[in-house]
Amino acid sequence: MEPPIADQRALLADVAELITGLATDPARLSTKPQLGADELRRRLDELNPERGRDGRQAIEWCVDLLMRGTVHTTNPGYYGLFNPAPAFMGIVADALTAAFNPQLAAWSHAPAANEIEAWLIRYVGRRLRLPSPVGGSFTTGGAEANATAVDLALTRVIPDVGNVGLARASAEPVIYASSESHLAWLKIAATSGIGRHNVRLIPVDAKLRLDPAALEAAINQDLAGGLRPLMVVATAGTTSAGALDPLAALAEIAAAHGCHYHVDAAWGGAAAFSDELRPILAGIELADSVTVDAHKWLSAPMGAGMFITRHPAALQETYRVTTAYMPHAIDETVDPYTSSIQWSRRFIGFKLFLTLLTEGREGIASQLERDTHLGALLRTVLAEDGWQLRNTTPLPLVCFADPDHADDMDYHQAIVDRVVSGGQAWISTTSVAGQPAIRACITNYRTTADDIQHLVAALRAARAQLEAAP
Ligand SMILES: *Cc1c(COP(=O)(O)O)cnc(C)c1O
Repeated sequence: MEPPIADQRALLADVAELITGLATDPARLSTKPQLGADELRRRLDELNPERGRDGRQAIEWCVDLLMRGTVHTTNPGYYGLFNPAPAFMGIVADALTAAFNPQLAAWSHAPAANEIEAWLIRYVGRRLRLPSPVGGSFTTGGAEANATAVDLALTRVIPDVGNVGLARASAEPVIYASSESHLAWLKIAATSGIGRHNVRLIPVDAKLRLDPAALEAAINQDLAGGLRPLMVVATAGTTSAGALDPLAALAEIAAAHGCHYHVDAAWGGAAAFSDELRPILAGIELADSVTVDAHKWLSAPMGAGMFITRHPAALQETYRVTTAYMPHAIDETVDPYTSSIQWSRRFIGFKLFLTLLTEGREGIASQLERDTHLGALLRTVLAEDGWQLRNTTPLPLVCFADPDHADDMDYHQAIVDRVVSGGQAWISTTSVAGQPAIRACITNYRTTADDIQHLVAALRAARAQLEAAP
């Protein structure tokens, strides 16, 4: 478990060489995995785990597998699902976290790490303009943060639910989110006991934003049917097309019906770090709780999400527990194990903290603004090339289609397959208002204007090939 110090140093030097080498030569990072399931399983079956082996050999074996068996989202041509190259200081923070291995479950075991995370949650809360006091926790990602929102909503809206259970509730609770929302809501509804059938996916308008009138109608229909509207979810930056729901209007409807109001800003919430972009989140300050992922547009290594709420006392009630064996609570501090889903807890916030300290908020903001300018550039160049733009959003996410094949998903998938097969770009298809589209999202700090031109050239070539040999 602990090789001689000289061996440790040599191994770490090798690893440092590898990590910095990846950064200087991103073309080695293919966006197309070369190893399939059969080959990966064959290699793993060949391993004999009975006897230990040399550390360097073990690392080389694993790195070879990772190099050839990964979609390298760190490639500047990865225009996918908000998996940017991780900030260097985030990588360093993750290594330091593993070395110190602070246990954040109880405040008293990791005072420094816990105060850093609490400070960061308050900092991001202030950037979102949430009123104090602000509480919350770091999570593995947006899905866990959204599950936390449902737990908190149940505690706030249904008296004593945490003690007596949902079966004793006077009415079935219902969650409302847009048809464009992240469908983790269905999983969360299933596991929370609310049930998938009690999630209403409300229609969107032409700009893919949740329609407030349709929400109002759905709530009234459920009230008439004897159900209990529990929570309204607004999405600030949808996953598929980057739409921003009308945050203030939805806050008003939620409040009028006594619903918990949650804003899922898993990727779009990063905009709060930029004074230029922050206005697109106007109304988020009215939220009862907010999800922001650090591992998406804030470039932290996975997994790092944040759950932020203006109801820290209710959050404490949600996860209330006492044990004989855990360290005693200390006055004026919060024990994360009694205010979040996790028990043993990693120092998740460190990767965002160290990045914030070194880049400064201004450095992070200029990266976000750069991406939005690249998004605008991509829109312009695509339109010049005859593509039809299918979404409008201030976020750097572009959905587009070939107007001559507007209804043809297979055609657009064929274009995407050709571009992706080159291994130096990753894009995908999606559906925008029921119509096929190609989707490209720019969240990687390595992506440049040249990369955007390369992508458009690859799309042009794919289209020409398909026209020639349909
Ligand atoms: C990515 C995403 C999620 C899920 O977050 P994970 O970090 O993948 O768990 C939830 N909501 C939205 C809007 C997202 O984009």
